[in-house]
Amino acid sequence: MSPEFNLIAKYFTRATPSADLGVGDDAALLRVSEGHQLAISVDMLVAGTHFFHDAAPYNIGWKSLAVNISDMAAMGAVPKWATLAIALPEINEPWLAEFSRGLFACADRFKVDLIGGDTTRGPLNISVQIMGEVPTGKALRRDGAKSDDDIWVSGNLGSAALGLAHLQNKITLDSEVAEHCLLALHTPMPRTILGLALRNKANSCIDVSDGLLADLGHILEASNLGATVALDNITCHDYLRLHLDKPMIQQCVLAGGDDYELVFTAPESQRHAIQQLTQQLNLPLSLIGKTTENLGIQVTYKQQMLDISKKGFDHFG
Ligand code: ADP
Ligand code: MG
Repeated sequence: MSPEFNLIAKYFTRATPSADLGVGDDAALLRVSEGHQLAISVDMLVAGTHFFHDAAPYNIGWKSLAVNISDMAAMGAVPKWATLAIALPEINEPWLAEFSRGLFACADRFKVDLIGGDTTRGPLNISVQIMGEVPTGKALRRDGAKSDDDIWVSGNLGSAALGLAHLQNKITLDSEVAEHCLLALHTPMPRTILGLALRNKANSCIDVSDGLLADLGHILEASNLGATVALDNITCHDYLRLHLDKPMIQQCVLAGGDDYELVFTAPESQRHAIQQLTQQLNLPLSLIGKTTENLGIQVTYKQQMLDISKKGFDHFG
């Protein structure tokens, strides 16, 4: 047996109850439930670009699957199957053991089966493909927003970006705040249950991977709309709220990536039902603005217009 094959057997082969055939053959075999569409998405994580070379392998394993599960959440799909294509610079078994532990911790948490992949030698590069199911016609798409929709966002925004700034020594955080922010950065929690709950409520949805304004911008572009957003109404961790006057913190909240929360739009008639989800899911859902016929995004803070054309609001850094 080749060493590569041993690695696959040892670190990437688990029972796959949701598949007819999992790891080990030339292809896996799956069945999509009657009346459902197959939702598929793939994301690549490159060392040095998407994570630091020396990042904890457990976190890399968790995050490489979590970011894909987040795409299923944003579609209102149930994540079910994943494949993993991985290039490794060397066979480092302790690294692989930790990577695999993080990957399967996330897979177990969200009931996803790893059904196949490819393993090769090369600069560290991880590509996970996720597959899920959504009842036909029920997917939450970017192009479904209507004028005068409420705009909502889940969870705390800006924590992951602040954690990254801390790692890059751009800011020094107290240990308690740093712990919260690094957890958000390293082990994001995809909002799958929220995504499912929104199927019959939201008109459009996207996950926040590149930053609130950028990702909301994708909904608006696809739906040919603009928006007004009140920064004051965005839920964020106490530390960020306390320092929300500072441009750097405003950038974390409005433009910071990696939060993996959901931004969605819904008609006002759903407002009460969505507010109730906050209690049901124990997850803050903030009503942050409205879609408009006028194109472009206008952001206010303390009733004043915020200049978001300034450098830094497209790309955090
Ligand atoms: P092939 O030559 O047919 O591509 P491989 O040797 O690449 O076969 O893979 C053997 C089996 O192991 C296949 O079922 C493949 O899907 C699975 N596999 C390979 N690498 C991984 C991985 N990193 N994670 C999960 N399954 C993997
Ligand atoms: Mg192969």
